[in-house]
Amino acid sequence: MNLKNSKFYKRIQTLRHFSKEKILKERTIRTMALRGVEMALSESQCNHDVDAASVAAASAWSPPLSSTSRRKSPAGGAAKSKMIKKKTDTSPRTREKGFKPVQPASDEDNDGAEVNGYIELNKCRYRVACSGRVDATTSRAAEPLFVESKSTICVSNSRYAMIGRISRLLGYKLVKESKLWNILWSDSFPGVELFKNMKRFQQINHFPGMIEICRKDLLSRNLNRMLKLYPHDYKIFPKTWMLPADYGDAMHYALNHKHTFILKPDSGAQGRGIWLTNDLKTIGANERLICQTYVYRPLLIDGYKFDLRVYTLITSVDPLRIYVYNEGLARFATNKYVEPTPGNANDLYMHLTNYSVNKRNSQYDLCDNDDCGSKRKLSAINNWMTRHNYDVAEFWSNVDDVIIKTVLSAWPVLKHNYHACFPGHDTIQACFEILGFDILVDWKLKPYILEVNHSPSFHTNEQVDREVKRPLIRDTLTLVSTVLADKKQILREDRKRVKQRLLKSKGDSVLRPRQVAGGAKPPTNETNVATAPKPEAGSLAQQVAWEESHLGNFRRIMPPQDASRISYYSKFYAQSNQVSIFQETAASKKREDLARKMRLQIEEKRAKAEQMLLASTKRKRPIQPRSVREKHRQYMYRLKENWIPGFVSEAEERLRHTWQQMRSEAIKNLKITENIYALLYELGHLSNTDITVFPSLYHCLQIGYDIKGAT
Ligand code: ADP
Repeated sequence: MNLKNSKFYKRIQTLRHFSKEKILKERTIRTMALRGVEMALSESQCNHDVDAASVAAASAWSPPLSSTSRRKSPAGGAAKSKMIKKKTDTSPRTREKGFKPVQPASDEDNDGAEVNGYIELNKCRYRVACSGRVDATTSRAAEPLFVESKSTICVSNSRYAMIGRISRLLGYKLVKESKLWNILWSDSFPGVELFKNMKRFQQINHFPGMIEICRKDLLSRNLNRMLKLYPHDYKIFPKTWMLPADYGDAMHYALNHKHTFILKPDSGAQGRGIWLTNDLKTIGANERLICQTYVYRPLLIDGYKFDLRVYTLITSVDPLRIYVYNEGLARFATNKYVEPTPGNANDLYMHLTNYSVNKRNSQYDLCDNDDCGSKRKLSAINNWMTRHNYDVAEFWSNVDDVIIKTVLSAWPVLKHNYHACFPGHDTIQACFEILGFDILVDWKLKPYILEVNHSPSFHTNEQVDREVKRPLIRDTLTLVSTVLADKKQILREDRKRVKQRLLKSKGDSVLRPRQVAGGAKPPTNETNVATAPKPEAGSLAQQVAWEESHLGNFRRIMPPQDASRISYYSKFYAQSNQVSIFQETAASKKREDLARKMRLQIEEKRAKAEQMLLASTKRKRPIQPRSVREKHRQYMYRLKENWIPGFVSEAEERLRHTWQQMRSEAIKNLKITENIYALLYELGHLSNTDITVFPSLYHCLQIGYDIKGAT
């Protein structure tokens, strides 16, 4: 009996269908309610002015050296997309086809912002630019809420439950890593294999090569290199030496300057292993440390030292696109600051501002108000600065400058790695990354970069954390989720390409490296090979448009809003032209020397260990390998071939001859040979056939000597 035709089966199917619909409806209502709560928590304000021209400039502008970039300027945009000059407002925050932006009833039905243009894509309209202040909260509230996203996110490699929660609120479906996720959120740097196997609709929250600025030693190396190239522009970090390679330089500086130094483990974090000293002689010559001049006059609030955690989002490296979150954290030390003396240098609660250090102090202030507490919001710091007549706008423009220059110091590596890992990613950017920049401010309001974190903490222990980090994650996911990543379509295209490639003749199908657009290396993974997609001219333009219209509380700092700054930053892109990043410097030579010495030491140790092992196991000469034996044999042969007899004197020769005669006569007279033979015969060791084997015996018998009688 066919169960599928039975009435019972059909009834169950109908019921299933209805319950599915019901669940969906309920989920929508829940999503809306939760979003409402989330919005209420958010204090973010869209305080950026973006006009259509700047959008165009931003998307059209690319660094002068990015000639290898596969992307074109958005002039004209994609065939599908159009710029429309209208006053309507729809900002769908979804990316899959299932989301239909609701058209407003009238032109006045927007959030009061003057809208300059829209991009039309797949019959949906996306806001491109707005001028004037836009209240993000109200604008979002007016936005259509989507029902159910087909986009998936994998957060199983993240320890922060908040990421999963917010993703779900935004309509993402949480999936395992083994599934075809749209976004992978990981706390650690993934391996190159994962990057290389990514499909064209997938995004990951790390860029390959970002370690160049996220490890203290690499950051110091890159910034020092840039300082050498651009001495006036790169005074953005305290003087730094990498020990032991720069030990001599550091000692020389210490001799000529009375300064306090701060020493940090080269790949440490959370304030571990940090100490202050003004005597560098106490450091061992072989210790691996980062040595920095101590910024001894920091800006103080209420007498406490603090540093800033500035959240920065990078959405693309070629062209470089950087956004800074307007809200962040200021982390305070918990003992009042006094300039370092030998007496207080050990007081970490005074000199370090790490949360992980200061939370252990009983003085740690958990106050929730803006103007107190050991952790405060950046907006509170801005208010404090305004109250104290500091130029807040100028200060933040300096911070932006520090961030841009820090990222630019690793730009050649970032760009190279991106193109090497993602030759086929033509529709959307394969990566985005939230970086936590630790900025220290001195009494003149000059910002210094201390460190860059590739996985800033998203723990929400305090109210202030929740107020900053939740909107940050939400705005990030919104900004990176472009409408362009249509999973199904891309998979279909990829399958078609693979099929075409297989059907094509062998000779035609092989794509030579140079045929890949943009001069990038040939793709390696199955889906990306062969017919690597031609980059859509407008895909970047569309992404830019999406980003500009979904900034949330982010502000764009790269490309800069101010057109005059564009040419200023252009010169830093040319760093790889001026000097190879692998060029030899005094420090790099020293580093090489050290490495060579270390290698020799290791080899010596290994040889000694081998010798000891040999001595302990067998006291025999080891059998040499066949190749060595063969070499030795050939050497001996050649020696024989070329042998020339030495000089022999006649007297010597005569003497030798006489001795030989005397010896044979003695043997004969004493009948030594015969005696031996007779003995052997008697013992039964010798038979008559042996005469052929022992010619002397044969000789004896021939001359009639009876060997028996010899005894
Ligand atoms: P970690 O990664 O271990 O947190 P950081 O480089 O961020 O190491 O330094 C930890 C803390 O030490 C900073 O938050 C800051 O307060 C202080 N600090 C670091 N470098 C300096 C410096 N050059 N001058 C003054 N204070 C510094």
